[in-house]
Amino acid sequence: MTRSTRPDTSQEHTGQEQFLTVLSRDEALARFEAVLFPRTTPTEELMLADALGLPLADDVTAPIDVPPFDRSNVDGFAVRAADIATASEALPARLLLNRETIACGVAPQIPVLAGTATSIATGGPVPRGADAIVMVEHTHPAEGDAIEVRRGASPGQFISHAGSDIARGEVLLRAGTVIGSREIGMLAACGIALVTVARKLRVAVLSTGDELVQPGDTLRPAGIYDANGAIVSAAITENGGQASFLGAYPDDEATLEAAMREALAAHDVLILSGGTSKGAGDVSHRIVNRLGAPGIVAHGVALKPGKPLCLAVCDGKPVVVLPGFPTSAMFTFHDMIVPVLRRMAGLPPRTEAKVAAKVPLRIQSELGRTEFVMVSLVEGEQGLVAYPTGKGSGAITSFAQADGFISIEALADNMPAGSEASVTLFTPHVRVPDLVVIGSNCTGLDLVVGILFRAGLTVRSIAVGSLGGLAAARRGECDIAPIHLFDAKTQSYNAPFLSEGLELVQGWRRMQGIVYRPGDLRFQGTDPEEAVRAALADPNCMMVNRNQGSGTRILIDQLLGAARPDGYWNQPRSHNAVAAAVAQNRADWGVTIAPVARSAGLGFIALKEEHYDFALVSARKQRPAVQAFLTALASPEFNEAVERMGFYPTWPSVRYPG
Ligand code: AMP
Ligand code: MG
Repeated sequence: MTRSTRPDTSQEHTGQEQFLTVLSRDEALARFEAVLFPRTTPTEELMLADALGLPLADDVTAPIDVPPFDRSNVDGFAVRAADIATASEALPARLLLNRETIACGVAPQIPVLAGTATSIATGGPVPRGADAIVMVEHTHPAEGDAIEVRRGASPGQFISHAGSDIARGEVLLRAGTVIGSREIGMLAACGIALVTVARKLRVAVLSTGDELVQPGDTLRPAGIYDANGAIVSAAITENGGQASFLGAYPDDEATLEAAMREALAAHDVLILSGGTSKGAGDVSHRIVNRLGAPGIVAHGVALKPGKPLCLAVCDGKPVVVLPGFPTSAMFTFHDMIVPVLRRMAGLPPRTEAKVAAKVPLRIQSELGRTEFVMVSLVEGEQGLVAYPTGKGSGAITSFAQADGFISIEALADNMPAGSEASVTLFTPHVRVPDLVVIGSNCTGLDLVVGILFRAGLTVRSIAVGSLGGLAAARRGECDIAPIHLFDAKTQSYNAPFLSEGLELVQGWRRMQGIVYRPGDLRFQGTDPEEAVRAALADPNCMMVNRNQGSGTRILIDQLLGAARPDGYWNQPRSHNAVAAAVAQNRADWGVTIAPVARSAGLGFIALKEEHYDFALVSARKQRPAVQAFLTALASPEFNEAVERMGFYPTWPSVRYPG
């Protein structure tokens, strides 16, 4: 990493470029803000209802008193307090009724003279002469159009005086106050129909990349759905802006430049994603410098994910190129762009909720970059535990499963297991799930979770592999750990791996087998031995392997013996990745489970049945959610569904004692 005082803007654009100036997050933000602020916030006058969520441009003073007149707070009689000062049960005061009744909206005509009372409704204006209201419950009708009052009243009783709520000329709301329903109520009560607010920022959003396909369209080979367009537009709306999504543009410099110029002319801000890495096809960052002065102020920020972020200001308008990977785009957008947009829009900074949690595993981190790690929270024996959920910077699902994120400072190369970390929550509150499942993942598990979900229970399922699940169960961080571990010594699954405090609950069986594209005569109609022999005999036959430590890898190694055919070093971490490699012709065979083979439309040669079971934390067995899980697992509904999916249920055998 080289440092210079000027950002890199004058590179030759041949092939792979490097980020010459990588700035720290704070430095990049400081340069961006220094060019953008101070500035005046554009304002507009809006109808009250349309002003919801926007900050007031000016102080608003009350044009009238609220209430505008002295008002009765109860149903009863307007009286002179002095007339009933000595009234009691034994000696009631008798008052003559005036010949009018004051309902809401009725202006009184007759004064309340000594010895008289006027009937008045809640909200009615207090007549001249009266200084207190007696509740109807404390009076009795009396002969000759009169009432009897059996208790005294102090002057002012049950009267709201004019201006007691809001006094004319008082500052009602201060400039900068964000208008919510309560503020709308106050303004409406004063008769204000129009307010001047900071106008919503008009933000143009544009995605770039030859590979991008809009959601709803058919995915072509090597195509990727445009996630950033939707994410960024929604995040702008969430932060009080007005997003216009202009679509995805191919990496063509001329077309893109025309689109960017047009977008910038019609909006306050332009936000792009993709094309900021310094690869040959990445053009958006090059165009930015031609759009106005001063141009790029930071390109390359010491953040992970998010290094390729590009910040520019073109003739007063911010132009941001977010990294292409959706998680990178989201983190940089929330961490660095949202604060700037809110400040431009006159909105207060977003309030973030944080909680402390223990990190159960060591998390690797890159030295020199502030690293964000998404985490799922579970309740441990000594407080909250934060499990990393990241699947790499390309993964978008981590966001949905995460409760928040932790950041590892640039100067650390890891966060040790057992560290206390501060978790910034994505939602204002921690949602502690009813059931926590940590271990190996299986699509069959979704069926059980679905049953619990429909019963109103929340389930957090964290995939860390069988061994990780057992460790979490021993530490008391989960209720149930799904496992599929083969013990070579006893030639049996799972039971030999349980320790004190854990018990085995039978799950289901998964048939592992060799997959191939239907019609491949090297495999069609063969048994496993013939299939492997055919594969090894053909030097053009490409395999796809599995990662070290997976149960499937053990099987593959048994099949291959000492052979290392082409493709052996391609070692994806999931059943689905193996099926995708074969289906897309990147490999000719691999080993995966039957339901995955079936849904990918592949041929299948059965090899061995694998047992997918559950290590249950005995101490938690009586928890209602655990009982619900066990009931769901034993239900005909689940077992029929899991069988339809292509698994072998162990039902109706008795799954657990007691
Ligand atoms: P880039 O910054 O253009 O080199 O893109 C980096 C990675 O992000 C590539 O794998 C792109 O396919 C992916 N990517 C770029 N833009 C988007 C987008 N709008 N939605 C989803 N993925 C994207
Ligand atoms: Mg691209």
